[in-house]
Amino acid sequence: MSDATFDFDVIVIGAGYGGFDAAKHAAEHGLKVAIIESRDMGGTCVNRGCVPSKALLAASGRVRELADADHLAGFGIHAAPVRFERQKIADHANALVATIRANLTKTLERAGVTIIRGKGRLEGSQRVGVREVSGVDRVLTARDVILATGSDPFVPPGIDTDGRSVFTSDEAVNLEWLPRWIAIIGSGYIGLEFADVYTALGCEVTMIEALDRVMPTFDPDIAKIAARKLIDGRDIEARSGVLAKAIRPGSPVQIELVDMETREPVETLEVDAVLVATGRVPSSKDLNLESVGVETQRGFVPIDDSMHVLVHGQPLPHLWAVGDVTGKLMLAHTAAAQGTVAVDNILGHSRTIDYRSIPAATFTHPEISSVGLSEADAKQLAADQGFELGVVRSYFKANTKALAELESDGLMKLLFNKMSGEVLGAHLYGLHAADLIQEIANAVARRQSVTQLAQEVHTHPTLSELVEVAYKQAATAVGA
Ligand SMILES: Cc1cc2nc3c(=O)[nH]c(=O)nc-3n(C[C@H](O)[C@H](O)[C@H](O)COP(=O)(O)OP(=O)(O)OC[C@H]3O[C@@H](n4cnc5c(N)ncnc54)[C@H](O)[C@@H]3O)c2cc1C
Repeated sequence: MSDATFDFDVIVIGAGYGGFDAAKHAAEHGLKVAIIESRDMGGTCVNRGCVPSKALLAASGRVRELADADHLAGFGIHAAPVRFERQKIADHANALVATIRANLTKTLERAGVTIIRGKGRLEGSQRVGVREVSGVDRVLTARDVILATGSDPFVPPGIDTDGRSVFTSDEAVNLEWLPRWIAIIGSGYIGLEFADVYTALGCEVTMIEALDRVMPTFDPDIAKIAARKLIDGRDIEARSGVLAKAIRPGSPVQIELVDMETREPVETLEVDAVLVATGRVPSSKDLNLESVGVETQRGFVPIDDSMHVLVHGQPLPHLWAVGDVTGKLMLAHTAAAQGTVAVDNILGHSRTIDYRSIPAATFTHPEISSVGLSEADAKQLAADQGFELGVVRSYFKANTKALAELESDGLMKLLFNKMSGEVLGAHLYGLHAADLIQEIANAVARRQSVTQLAQEVHTHPTLSELVEVAYKQAATAVGA
């Protein structure tokens, strides 16, 4: 399959999950592959994202559990006051990062992928320039090139970061210190997860959201019930409809708040630290995309569903892009799935990606998850296609396992087509919601009907019965 007229069959720029899966899949299918990485192997997820944040959530979640005297008393347990060592929690996260990064690097080496440490860029069609760490700059050729350069934290204008008192998730994952009072700008999943960590470890949090409600990216019903525990039930003051217009690092950090609509000053807050969690921006500006005529959309590289990069809406031969840099459902498993799809297409096996069946999770305690359409989008689809939308709810408080755990706060909302029974989406909040969503994601992927799904037997007593209850409820409404 290899073509000797090129240095490589495939060159991947960026070794996050998108680039990693693409390079591994290509090498395992006999292609000659190089991957170029300018920072750390594993990218955001492994070094500054999913991996360290989940390690911090695991440790701080245990602290929260052991410190929750009321919850423990419900089981008749009375524990001694809980003590923890911040540095050891940070060490746990750092050790996990090092392990996963080493495993991933070894996997690529074993698959025969050439790893090049340096900064990559395009130099026209099928040509990649690389400035290596040593300073050497060279141009390599490849039959196909995959862009997988990911994203970086977005810091809005007016906010100065110093990495110590005002920082982004890049630094927060290191848990270098525990501020007594921290403001978190943004109430998306990153802001919520860090609020979970900080409050469990005794910090006071002020959450600042520019939009008119906190958790604006979540299903409104789920956000309402989740906020009761995740925000109102904790040492968090949530402010919505206010914009952090300027933030000055220091001791204290000063935050100028203005009204989002009128832009009139509201207040100047003085806090010990600020975490800026206002979204992420694509890392595409140094790729020299002009050399192949690609115009980005707000920095995102336009692609079609087979991961071909588009120029004026048309696929550009031999150039592909995957992961956060494409701006589609910016999650690690999306990036990885896109990487595999791109390579399958390079191999000549035509494949596209089904974004509707990709689940998303927020690893707070309890967790939040979703898959498929939002209720608003499902309503629109129903109106466009002339069917009635079905919505059923299933509650954790009716689930034996959740009751046994004394963790019965939560809700699942299932969206389906009342005519065909097809599952269109689900939104969940409650114990292990991140694991529960997978079953529904699989049903969405297969476009299955609730009538068929309602017949599937679930283990008793498990949280999965919550899904069974929803399917059964929905099945009675199909064709009714
Ligand atoms: C705090 C946090 C928590 C998260 N938690 C989760 C989670 O629980 N689950 C989940 O699914 N997702 C999570 N994410 C999102 C996830 O990390 C990203 O979606 C994922 O990392 C995207 O992968 P990628 O391969 O597209 O890009 P990245 O992981 O960003 O990797 C891109 C790589 O390309 C390199 N690069 C960039 N430009 C160049 C260049 N010119 N030359 C060479 N190399 C270059 C970068 O150094 C980087 O290593 C989280 C993110 C954050 C910030």
